[in-house]
Amino acid sequence: MIRVPFLDMAAQIAPLRAAMLEATGRVLDSGCFCLGPEVEAFEQEFAALHDCRYGVGVNSGTSALHLALQACDVQAGDEVITTALTFVATSAAIRYAGARPVYADVDPDSATLDWRAVERRIGPRTKAILAVHLYGQPCALEPLAALAEKHGLTLLEDAAQAHLSRYRGRPVGSFGRAAAFSFYPGKNLGACGEGGIVVTSDSQLAERMRRLRDWGQTRKYQHDEFGYNYRMDALQGALLRVKLPHLPTWTAARRRLARRYDELLATLPLQVWRESEGCESAFHLYTVGVPDRDEVRAQMRRRGIDCGVHYPVPVHLQPAYRDPDFPAGSLPVTEAICANTLSLPLYPELSEAQQEAVVAALRELLR
Ligand SMILES: *Cc1c(COP(=O)(O)O)cnc(C)c1O
Repeated sequence: MIRVPFLDMAAQIAPLRAAMLEATGRVLDSGCFCLGPEVEAFEQEFAALHDCRYGVGVNSGTSALHLALQACDVQAGDEVITTALTFVATSAAIRYAGARPVYADVDPDSATLDWRAVERRIGPRTKAILAVHLYGQPCALEPLAALAEKHGLTLLEDAAQAHLSRYRGRPVGSFGRAAAFSFYPGKNLGACGEGGIVVTSDSQLAERMRRLRDWGQTRKYQHDEFGYNYRMDALQGALLRVKLPHLPTWTAARRRLARRYDELLATLPLQVWRESEGCESAFHLYTVGVPDRDEVRAQMRRRGIDCGVHYPVPVHLQPAYRDPDFPAGSLPVTEAICANTLSLPLYPELSEAQQEAVVAALRELLR
């Protein structure tokens, strides 16, 4: 029996181990552990790869989202329109900024924000739209940008799952006023611990975020604005720099395997979320919709294949995120996707034999 783990981080690190140890040594010898030259170099390299002028390295994707929202003046009394089909961090960051998340339903074909539903949620308190490129699938960025423009709103991107995803040929992250990425180990570009970055091409916004991530200091011990300790570790910056040059190849491998899943699964009775027109997903996740999802997942595990579920409960139905305006049934497409979505193993190192084992097991179960 072939075992197929959901993720295989050791396989990715093995060929880079020597370079990563060398980078670690460089940081240890430098004596500089917070921000510093390694982080600055990484910020520039990552931002350039995403068609943005500035990068602000932080200690998590959640901090990146919070920083972007606050630097765009999102505050108490404001509403931010977003999706409930996401990891809770998206909504948490809106609440950290003091604002209220307002949910629009998703498009059933892409599982990302339905821009028409977003338009219906715009009200007098709406300040921003936070678009989440779920599973790596780019949101409908042009319609969303047009809506933001028309109503005087700020468009921000949660690109935590979408490193090098493209919309009309351009990398996501360069469409909103700012975009947040995560380097949580399991993301498409993972740190050896926590990390995140905000990218933008707005120099003033970048300056303000640099201050906010470092206690709001304009210079040492001068605090003109209330800030945070959101600095990126030098070690993470150095290690991410070793991995970054491989990101395009890894993304191409993910896309190739996703195409292959599309072909191998074509005749099975399940729902597959395909790329929307003009969108290139970085396939952080390859998800399908199956009836009796929890049972299918358990049976797959018995056959040595680990699947994931993203996400079993949408944010608006999480006890800590309840809002009387969004009861069960209020976001029917989101809720239906959560009920049957199943994430299949997908990472650059997944072998074709492993992928065939996943498909064979699914075929047996769905027959
Ligand atoms: C992972 C993730 C985050 C949070 O990133 P962290 O680095 O874990 O804080 C935010 N939004 C989405 C969509 C994510 O997948």
